[in-house]
Amino acid sequence: MSRRTAIVVGAGVGGLTAAMKLAHEGWRVELHEKLDVPGGRCGRIEGDGFRFDLGPTIMLMPFVFERTFASVGRKLSDYLQLVRCDPNYQVTFRDGATLTLTTELTKMREELERLEPGSFERYLRFLAKGRERHDVSLEHFVGKHFDSVAEFLTPSNLPRIFTVGAHRKLFGQVAQAFKDPRLQQVMSFQTMYLGVSPFEAPAVFSLLPYTELAVGVWYPMGGMGAIPRALEKVCREEGVTFHYNSEVKQIVVENGRAVGVALPDGRVSKADVVVCNADYPWAYKHLIDPKVSAKPELEKKRYTSSGYMLYLGVKRRYDELKHHNMFFGADFKGSFGDIFERLQVPEDPSFYVNAPAHTDPSMAPPGKDALYVLVPVPHQAPHLDWKIEGPKVRAKVFQRLAELGMPDLERDVEFERVITPDDWASSLNLERGSNFGLAQNMFQIGPFRPKVWDEKIQDLYFCGASCQPGTGVPTVMISADLAVQKINERSPAPHGARVGVKGLAAEGPTP
Ligand SMILES: Cc1cc2nc3c(=O)[nH]c(=O)nc-3n(C[C@H](O)[C@H](O)[C@H](O)COP(=O)(O)OP(=O)(O)OC[C@H]3O[C@@H](n4cnc5c(N)ncnc54)[C@H](O)[C@@H]3O)c2cc1C
Repeated sequence: MSRRTAIVVGAGVGGLTAAMKLAHEGWRVELHEKLDVPGGRCGRIEGDGFRFDLGPTIMLMPFVFERTFASVGRKLSDYLQLVRCDPNYQVTFRDGATLTLTTELTKMREELERLEPGSFERYLRFLAKGRERHDVSLEHFVGKHFDSVAEFLTPSNLPRIFTVGAHRKLFGQVAQAFKDPRLQQVMSFQTMYLGVSPFEAPAVFSLLPYTELAVGVWYPMGGMGAIPRALEKVCREEGVTFHYNSEVKQIVVENGRAVGVALPDGRVSKADVVVCNADYPWAYKHLIDPKVSAKPELEKKRYTSSGYMLYLGVKRRYDELKHHNMFFGADFKGSFGDIFERLQVPEDPSFYVNAPAHTDPSMAPPGKDALYVLVPVPHQAPHLDWKIEGPKVRAKVFQRLAELGMPDLERDVEFERVITPDDWASSLNLERGSNFGLAQNMFQIGPFRPKVWDEKIQDLYFCGASCQPGTGVPTVMISADLAVQKINERSPAPHGARVGVKGLAAEGPTP
């Protein structure tokens, strides 16, 4: 019996993970990627001896990566060298105060008590709740696919929904635990890792500060961009065929089934199943004939924020910076209102600076620094012209860093790249240039989020940030795992294939 065939659209972390797993299970897999390199948002920028991660810089939940590699019979450590960042990061507030977040509890006690006496005890309780939410959500929600609301709201799940706090807003809970506004900021801003305001995010995301403390913030040597390269290596070992610079123009549907993809040269490549990793809202709008299936409701959904990015190669090492640095602007709450409600750039923006060469010398020439600046900004909007907004934001970043003792930074820049929401939209096919895809607010998680399979078009599957379970590098690996599980369920594995490879969901919640 001949091997069954799959086409994967997109070499983001989701697409690579799906391709790797399918190939390992015996499918003949062909992958088409628009760009000339793997990784998508988890890609790299390189120039003049400097190397930067394009998007993600924070590696959480390393056990998901280990399990993903183990699911195809590989050891993660044979492909990636992970190191733990300590301290996790340094935060600078608008009043000039700083706070270093570390996994060392005695140091953490000193840091928290310095800003709010008595806060350490409450921090421990906050973490305990975060742990409970982490374990329950990973075991019962994140690793599972919900085909319907009824499957989500079962009698056994209802108490769990209350336990994880999916029905409450995160910031309110944080404000109950900490009185000092600076600690409230530090314990809630992590929802921006998902591009969602802490004032809108469900309380379940208090699992993020817990994960940072208990499991740690990790870094793969070579940067996050090393992850897709490692996945690509395994894919090639498993026989996946790669086609770069190959932007799929349409998912071809015949008699209600996805039968292949239309390629830029006009050819149609056929397969038994199509797995689409291009971001779901964009893909639905541009790759599927609306006469076959349309999802106008996607226009009304909430989208995550975008990022104005600076990638700066500078001619000296900036010891004032740690590997991860957060700089908060003056009006924490107002800035989220600007970004998410008013769709305007905050007057005094908060931003993040990544300086990976402080951990990994391969990221910059000796004695120099590779600095990545991410300023959270609204997704594309007709009134936002990035040719005007961009230089204003850039100037504010350099001004703030100058005030904090780095007055020569702008002069020290010898390599610079800028990415705006418009670039995110056009280069990676992200709807509205939204960095993290569909938002993960209460009504866009679980069964309310797009499924990894299509209800109307048979043999069409999806994986990635805007699908279940959600955005983030480890989460899109889980999404790919769910898609492959669904394929196996609905299109049984080919004769002679290696079946029974355990999915991530089956492995349980804890590291
Ligand atoms: C600035 C930024 C910071 C982030 N920080 C973090 C972080 O610190 N930690 C974390 O875990 N996550 C972070 N994330 C989120 C994380 O990067 C994403 O959730 C994840 O990488 C998305 O992977 P994906 O496979 O869903 O999609 P993508 O990475 O978008 O991959 C999709 C691929 O499909 C390709 N494609 C699109 N259309 C077509 C087509 N028609 N034909 C062929 N190919 C096509 C694209 O070129 C792309 O390569 C960050 C994201 C950004 C943008």
